[in-house]
Amino acid sequence: MFAVYSPEQPVAHLTYLGLYALQHRGQESAGMAVSDGQTITVVKDMGLVSNVFDDRTLDALTGHLAIGHTRYSTTGSSTWGNAQPFYRNIGDHSFAIAHNGNLVNTEELAAEAGMLPGTVTSDTDVVAELIEQELARDPESSSDGRALERALLAVLPKLVGAFSFVLMDEGHVIAVRDKQGFWPLCLGKLPAGWAVASESPALDIINAHQIREVAAGEMVVIDATGVRTEQPWALEEIDPKLCLMEFVYFHRPDGSLYGQNVHQARMRMGEQLAEQAPVEGDLVMGVPESGLPAAEGYARRSGIPYGQGLVKNRYIGRTFIAPNQEMRALGVRLKLNPLRDSIEGRRLIVVDDSIVRGTTTRAMVQMLREVGALEVHLRISSPPYTWPCFYGMDTGTRGELIAANLTVGEIRAYLNVDSLAYLELDRLKAATSTGGAGFCDACFTGAYPIEIPVALRAGVLDTTPPVRDAVPSTLALLFESDGELPADHARRLGG
Ligand code: AMP
Ligand code: SF4
Repeated sequence: MFAVYSPEQPVAHLTYLGLYALQHRGQESAGMAVSDGQTITVVKDMGLVSNVFDDRTLDALTGHLAIGHTRYSTTGSSTWGNAQPFYRNIGDHSFAIAHNGNLVNTEELAAEAGMLPGTVTSDTDVVAELIEQELARDPESSSDGRALERALLAVLPKLVGAFSFVLMDEGHVIAVRDKQGFWPLCLGKLPAGWAVASESPALDIINAHQIREVAAGEMVVIDATGVRTEQPWALEEIDPKLCLMEFVYFHRPDGSLYGQNVHQARMRMGEQLAEQAPVEGDLVMGVPESGLPAAEGYARRSGIPYGQGLVKNRYIGRTFIAPNQEMRALGVRLKLNPLRDSIEGRRLIVVDDSIVRGTTTRAMVQMLREVGALEVHLRISSPPYTWPCFYGMDTGTRGELIAANLTVGEIRAYLNVDSLAYLELDRLKAATSTGGAGFCDACFTGAYPIEIPVALRAGVLDTTPPVRDAVPSTLALLFESDGELPADHARRLGG
C-alpha cells in the first residue's frame, strides 16, 4: 500500500509509480483514491496496476493527497467489490481506506456494527463501517478537520488481528500499523510533502527519502501542517511481531526491515545454510528470484562456484496467483526454464527461500533432472513451513502445506532430490541481524502471537482426512503422482 501528500506534484502519478514498485505484494486488484481538498475520487479495478491505470485515468485524478493499494487475496472473495480502497460518505464528509492483513475478530466487529450476517464482504468492509458510525456520532465531524483521526482512535483498539491501513479524508492522509506491526510501513520525505509505503523501494521510485519505518502501534497523520504521530494503544500493549516471511520471501530485496537491507539478510541466510548443511557439489544456483541472494551467500561461504541454472521469464508474475493447484504446476514451466549448459553432468546445490505446497519445487527439480543434473541437493533458507498464516499471507490450509504432512525425509523423496535441508529458526533470525527484534514466526512454530478463534481454525488447521477430497492440494496430487511415495502416506492421509 502507498500514500502520499504532496501539493507540488501530481499525486496520482506518484501513487501509480509507488504501486508499480509494490506490485509483488498483490496482483488481484489495484486502486487509488485521490483528493483535491474538496472531493475524493476513487479508481480501482481487478488486475495489475498497469491494467487498471493509464495516462488518461491518471491525468483526470487531480489533487494533492492520495492512497493506493494492490490487493493480495486474503479474506473476502476475488471480486471488484473487494478491490480497495473502500470509499464511504457520511453527509458532507467522506473517507477512503485500504488495508493489508487479516483481522481475526471480524464476526464480533460486524455484530457490534449491526451488520447483518451475509452482508459483510471483508474485514476491511467492517472497519469502514465502524469508522463511518464513529464519524456519524461525532458532532465536530465537519468543523475541526480531525474527525477521521478521532474515529480511528475509537475504532482501532477494538480490532484484533494484523493490519496496516492507509486512509484519507478530503484533507488528511493517515497511516497506521497494528500494535504488533505484522506488516511493514515506512515513511518518506518529498521536497514538499510526505509519502508512506509498505516497502521503501516505492519511496525510492518517487525520489522520496526514507525517514524511518512507521513503528508498531503507531498512527501517522499527514496534512498541510506536516506529520504527527498518535498512539492508539497504550505503550505496554505494543509488542512488535514483524512477519518473518517478509525477510525470507515477501519483501523486495532492495528494501529494508528493522533497518536491515533485505538482500544482505538473505545472503546471510544462505551463509548460515552452508554452515548448517554443507554438501559437496559443482554448482550453487538459486531459484529465481527469491532464492538468488541466499544462493549467493551459500556459494560464498562454501567456496563452491555460484552460477545461473534457471532463467525466469521476465514477463510472468508469481505462479502462486494461478487459481488452482494444477494450473500452478503448469505455471512453473512458463516461469522457469533450465540452462542446460550449466546443469548437464553437474552436481547441483539448489537454494530456494521456502517450500509451501511443494508443487513448484517438485516441477522445478524434475526440469533440472530432465536436462541432465547428476545430483540435486536442495537447501531452503527458512524452516519447514508447517502452519497456515491467519494474518494475511495466503498459504491455504494445513492439509495443503507439505511440511505439515510429511517429514523432511518424506519431502525429500517426494521432491526427488538427493538431499534436503531447511535453515534452523535460530540461524534464520540471526541472519536478519536485527538483535532481539520481535518477529511472528507462527508458520514455522505454530506459536501464533494472536490467538486464532475456533471458528477460523476449523478446517484450516486439520491435516487429517479428508484432505484428499478437499480442494486440489499437494497431497491430493501425491496420490496421483508417479513419485516415490513413502509407504505410510496412504495410511496417514486416510487413503
Ligand atoms: P511450492 O514448491 O509450490 O511450495 O513453491 C515454492 C515457492 O513458493 C518458493 O520459491 C517461494 O519463493 C514461493 N512462496 C513462498 N511463500 C509464498 C507465498 N505466500 N505466496 C507465493 N509464493 C510463495
Ligand atoms: Fe508471517 Fe508466517 Fe506470521 Fe503469517 S504466520 S505473519 S506468514 S510469520
